[in-house]
Amino acid sequence: MKKHNFNAGPSILPREVIEQTAQAVLDFNGSGLSVLEISHRAKDFQPVVDEAVALFKELLNIPEGYSVLFLGGGASLEFCMIPYNFLEKKAAYLNTGVWAKKAMKEAKGFGEVVEVASSAEATYTYIPKDYEVPADADYFHITTNNTIYGTELKEDLDVNVPMIADMSSDIFSRPIDVSKYVCIYGGAQKNLAPAGVTFVIIKNDALGKVSRYIPTMLNYQTHIDGGSMFNTPPVLPIYTALQTLRWIKAQGGVKEMERRAIEKADMLYAEIDRNKMFVGTAAKEDRSRMNICFVMAPEYKELEAEFMKFATEKGMVGIKGHRSVGGFRASCYNAMPKESVQALIDCMQEFEKLH
Ligand SMILES: *Cc1c(COP(=O)(O)O)cnc(C)c1O
Repeated sequence: MKKHNFNAGPSILPREVIEQTAQAVLDFNGSGLSVLEISHRAKDFQPVVDEAVALFKELLNIPEGYSVLFLGGGASLEFCMIPYNFLEKKAAYLNTGVWAKKAMKEAKGFGEVVEVASSAEATYTYIPKDYEVPADADYFHITTNNTIYGTELKEDLDVNVPMIADMSSDIFSRPIDVSKYVCIYGGAQKNLAPAGVTFVIIKNDALGKVSRYIPTMLNYQTHIDGGSMFNTPPVLPIYTALQTLRWIKAQGGVKEMERRAIEKADMLYAEIDRNKMFVGTAAKEDRSRMNICFVMAPEYKELEAEFMKFATEKGMVGIKGHRSVGGFRASCYNAMPKESVQALIDCMQEFEKLH
């Protein structure tokens, strides 16, 4: 039976990207060697990194003066590297969920941290809008897509201090104005590659402004100087990321990814709003296009396990909500075909007819 992969992360990748990766594991570029057994400094691997960086810059329209890095450690290590490299006195954070909170926790070890607003009191079902960012903050940190709660900041904010964004789960799903940010980062395993590589887009001249000693591996400058090759980078995930970037370009770029994301999200939210058995959990204006969260309507609450079983039998995978919030979450990343979203909708409609 066909599986419809709604996993939140690691998650769906385009089929051809997986096939190209499988091929390179067997024979990298006709070299007679696997991509698993070559040096990251081999002359035919350097072009992989170079092209991945070039495609990042091209697809996201990254201005001059920025570097693109491929590191290890996941977005979670960036939570600590950000304040290490950027926080001298004070930083501002928008608390929109567990990931934002974790980022904020790390920063507290480095200086004053101002939580400008939080939606914790409403289980992070919306994104706070009325708040002030202290003008003397070194940076303002946001999480553009809240993977667990299904809320998303779908536009670049205008604030009076440099912005830093965790874009782990919505990178490449819409055009962004990179010039508003000094740093954009994320784990690649949501929308780009298998787990193991972290992307970091960084404004070069925003570095070097903190007075503390920064350990070599945690210093962004090390990785800029080393072209992401200071030490051995995650070779295989970078190779796969390149295939995904080529795929995005061939499909029409981030504008087209955005068009598809809107189309898929609109389809599924329309069904959630129409179907009497289900309710969306995120505030309408903040609904994520990437992670679509819903629960059973109160009068059908006891049918939750039954719907899960029903959907699983129809090939739906990964629609269980995050363990901290329950209910359902359908992650519809770039590689998710419209047909799979339609299959989930069909499933919801059939279930409604049965009850
Ligand atoms: C998944 C996720 C993370 C954590 O990423 P790791 O690579 O596992 O450290 C952080 N932020 C957001 C928004 C995420 O979705």
